[in-house]
Amino acid sequence: MSDRIYLVLLGAPGAGKGTQAQLLEEKLGIPQISTGEIFRYNLKNETELGKLAKSYYDKGELVPDEVTIRMVEARLAEEDAARGAILDGFPRNLLQAEALDGMTAEFGGIDLVPMFQLEDDVVTMRITGRRVCRNCDRVYHLTFNPARGEGCDSCGGELYQRNDDRPETVQNRLYIYYKQTSPLIGYYFAKGLLVDIDGAKPIEEMQEQLVAVLAANNIETAGSALSV
Ligand code: ADP
Ligand code: ADP
Ligand code: ZN
Repeated sequence: MSDRIYLVLLGAPGAGKGTQAQLLEEKLGIPQISTGEIFRYNLKNETELGKLAKSYYDKGELVPDEVTIRMVEARLAEEDAARGAILDGFPRNLLQAEALDGMTAEFGGIDLVPMFQLEDDVVTMRITGRRVCRNCDRVYHLTFNPARGEGCDSCGGELYQRNDDRPETVQNRLYIYYKQTSPLIGYYFAKGLLVDIDGAKPIEEMQEQLVAVLAANNIETAGSALSV
């Protein structure tokens, strides 16, 4: 039985999970798995999965569990996830959380669940200013984390505003978060896996907090190994 590292990033939409996951990938040597990103890829390419997800995605509602769980199971079995993964946007309800426990049990289960704490009004500002690279999914913010030039800093791709980041859908997404996803805070707290991260801090400080809690839980990052 090999032990893999599985992190679950928890927090409202716009709390900064994707941004931190993208920074952590390299330090941990395991991939970010963002269910939102996988859905966007399938929407863009108009696959069967994309067609199925579209009506839910556009309204800011959850894509049915059966579809989402199967998709994550397949993604976790890919070769780049052989040492574990950083889960961003999954699980989003209790059924998904229980399914993930089942998928990871033979590898030692979930290791840690950083919970990003943030006020709703800040969350709303973050979501409405978010811009994403159409090509590589890197995340920017018009004011808090702008690109240096017109296009994406990494690949030059076009930056766009997600459909579901418009003010009309943001309220609904927050509502869905409180109703369906926030019970996971208690679920992981009871398992002793929850750690709080101050989501109101700048991006670099949040990353430092994350590296520190990982080290405190004996999860080694390239960053923590170099800094002592
Ligand atoms: P954010 O991080 O802003 O909440 P995501 O990119 O994680 O946005 O998700 C965008 C949309 O993709 C969600 O509103 C939902 O429609 C769909 N989605 C993402 N993850 C899941 C999931 N685990 N279960 C069901 N639907 C999901
Ligand atoms: P999530 O994955 O939780 O939905 P993102 O990582 O996509 O959140 O971040 C939402 C928006 O907020 C993006 O525009 C991102 O650039 C910006 N952002 C992320 N972290 C911070 C931070 N610590 N301070 C200010 N803005 C941030
Ligand atoms: Zn890019």
